[in-house]
Amino acid sequence: MGRTSKDKRDVYYRLAKENGWRARSAFKLLQLDKEFHLFQGVTRAVDLCAAPGSWSQVLSQKIGGQGSGHVVAVDLQAMAPLPGVVQIQGDITQLSTAKEIIQHFKGCPADLVVCDGAPDVTGLHDVDEYMQAQLLLAALNIATHVLKPGGCFVAKIFRGRDVTLLYSQLRVFFSSVLCAKPRSSRNSSIEAFAVCQGYDPPEGFMPDLSKPLLDHSYDFNQLDGPTRIIVPFVTCGDLSSYDSDRSYPLDLEDGSEYKYTPPTQPPISPPYQEACTLKKKGQLAKEIRPQDCPSSRVDTFPQ
Ligand code: SAM
Repeated sequence: MGRTSKDKRDVYYRLAKENGWRARSAFKLLQLDKEFHLFQGVTRAVDLCAAPGSWSQVLSQKIGGQGSGHVVAVDLQAMAPLPGVVQIQGDITQLSTAKEIIQHFKGCPADLVVCDGAPDVTGLHDVDEYMQAQLLLAALNIATHVLKPGGCFVAKIFRGRDVTLLYSQLRVFFSSVLCAKPRSSRNSSIEAFAVCQGYDPPEGFMPDLSKPLLDHSYDFNQLDGPTRIIVPFVTCGDLSSYDSDRSYPLDLEDGSEYKYTPPTQPPISPPYQEACTLKKKGQLAKEIRPQDCPSSRVDTFPQ
């Protein structure tokens, strides 16, 4: 596969590199902002699950323009530094990380908390949806500690079977909850974004990090009648913007000559690095499967 083929297949990947964004996800946040004016009046924000950092780039540019913005970015993985962004490396589901984040907003709460977190997908839909919900709830828990009244929370959500329960939980804390699908998010993906505006916790609510928000004994399918909250579904990024499921020719608009752009920020010590080095040296051991072996060798396998 040539290095330009991904540019052809994924127009947002290509545009991200050309515009200096670290990841194509930048367009999702930009399209969400266009629809919901997320950055209006925002000076303090938290970017949960931030690596490689394109949402933090957007945040620092949009809210930190005059150097007045304050962005805290958190991820399990190391992230190359960004001007004006405080970084925390840690797991947002861990108490110690949550405490470290909250520390930054003591006495001066945040206007916006965003979370683009995604677990390593297993392909088992139930497991993936469950893990995604756990991340969202961990993010919500942190948001309840740092958001100012009226603040906004945006989080990636998988529109799976039990999404109604998540909407109900979000509605407890926000006056408006919507499900948004930016044009740069592929139709083929179940990912969408919960856009929760107007932070307004129930009277007497005391944020408590020791209480998990997901009640494991709950039968999700019991949600019915008025307890079943149907949140509006909004697509954003107008129809004239690029379709993330289409391939585009390399000479996009003005007919100017296509030039390959390398990624803005290559990953820091990615897990596949060792395998690539070994492959270059021809030292990568191949897995030997019984069906690849001549029958004489298969016969020698222990029974
Ligand atoms: N918004 C990012 C950007 O624009 O560059 C992309 C985020 S990427 C889709 C998802 C990130 O979630 C990964 O970097 C992953 O390390 C992070 N993540 C997954 N689980 C996490 C956890 N429990 N705590 C912190 N980060 C987590």
